[in-house]
Amino acid sequence: MDQWEPIKQLVKSVKNGKVSAVNLVERSLSKIESNSEYKAIISTLKQSALKRATEIDESIKKGGKVGVLAGIPFIAKDNFLVFGAETTAASNILKGFIPPYQATVINRLEEQGAICVAKANLDAFAHGASTENSDFFITKNPYDKTRVPGGSSGGSAAAVALGMAPFALGTDTGGSIRQPSAFCGVFGMKPTYGLVSRSGVIAMGSSLDCIGPITSRVEDAEIILDVMSGLDELDATTIAKDNLGYGSSLISLKGTKIGVIKEYLGEGVDSEILDATQSKIIELKKAGAEVKEVSLPSLEYALACYYIICPAEVSSNLSRYDGQRYGYSDRSAESLFDSYVNTRGKGFGTEAKRRIIIGTFVLSSGYYDAYYKKAMTVRTKLINEFNDAFNDVDFLVGPVTPTTAFKIGERSQNPLDMYLADVMTVAANLTGVPAVSLPNGFSKEKLPIGFQIMAPQRKDRDLLSLAKTIESLSL
Ligand code: GLN
Repeated sequence: MDQWEPIKQLVKSVKNGKVSAVNLVERSLSKIESNSEYKAIISTLKQSALKRATEIDESIKKGGKVGVLAGIPFIAKDNFLVFGAETTAASNILKGFIPPYQATVINRLEEQGAICVAKANLDAFAHGASTENSDFFITKNPYDKTRVPGGSSGGSAAAVALGMAPFALGTDTGGSIRQPSAFCGVFGMKPTYGLVSRSGVIAMGSSLDCIGPITSRVEDAEIILDVMSGLDELDATTIAKDNLGYGSSLISLKGTKIGVIKEYLGEGVDSEILDATQSKIIELKKAGAEVKEVSLPSLEYALACYYIICPAEVSSNLSRYDGQRYGYSDRSAESLFDSYVNTRGKGFGTEAKRRIIIGTFVLSSGYYDAYYKKAMTVRTKLINEFNDAFNDVDFLVGPVTPTTAFKIGERSQNPLDMYLADVMTVAANLTGVPAVSLPNGFSKEKLPIGFQIMAPQRKDRDLLSLAKTIESLSL
């Protein structure tokens, strides 16, 4: 597709005056406009972006200090609070909401000179795997307009594939960075839980939510993670970043122990995806990696476990949208209670309502033990199995998705079909481990395929090194 030059190279050109930050922002805005038919973008921040770019250019001319992302345009999923535009989470209930503060990650990126140019489409509140749950419009896959880009960060992944910016931000609660990255042929990373502050990002499932970069190449993601990660007093779950940062170097695969997840190579996975995964594994072996099959028996229950814990947390997080404080409010109601009911009834879409109902049910006193508590037990079992596996191997690998990008409308009528798209991504969120989707060729229909790599918690640096090394094998 349409790739930008590596971020390091772009920043160098901005700093030595070869290209201006204003040029880069204009290039990004013009790409957004010329690809508007894909409907990846909800809003643009033209004025504020050009103003920031001008400031950076002036500062460079005066010999001032600019950051490691000087002049780099980026696109944030529309569930990040960013000054200068509405934040809607693609939901009618937040239409018109202007954030009074900004996400920590946006502040950190801006401090280093990055410029937010647009907000990307998503499944409303990040509930979904196709962007078809957006209350506004459906984003189209850059490789085939009749297909979905994946979700919920479908707008972000499509934007990077279409060359709208060198990087985009996504959120991943059950696969929403990795699955659209796989469907759009770009690199996407879900870091270790807690490595990137969630402050100022609209909460979905608070024990699962992670923020990460979507880029054209691994090296770009390393730079972005380096800037975004680390402790933040506004998010108590944050952990310190790696002392060495994330700018890794290539590694020798000799002696690297890689476990292939047995449960991800079974029934229900397209043969073309299995073949692509096997070819990658052969490549790894050829390069000297010690590869063996690893079984994690509780993976069979991961999806069911996720679709109890996630809605439980969603039902709690969505309770704040009651029409009294944010966005849409039904003013015709005669009592406060009716105002809640009407606002939520009209403002939330079908999927948000489904999750509120399921979540409230699994947390209710009669069913808590049977559903929520059991799901939490399975989650612990899964964490133990991952820990055991990582005592034996350095990384776990497998496919990202059971299929390539599906047709628009193919699954949207049946929520269970849609949920199945997440079968190989939710485990990383339940266990908190870092995971990436690395492009791994194309199907016969010329649709991108992703390769998933997971590492133990806090081994994000090693994970990026391996991803970069594998990427270099296929260049
Ligand atoms: N597709 C999953 C869901 O709908 C994951 C969403 C996400 O990661 N935000 O819950």
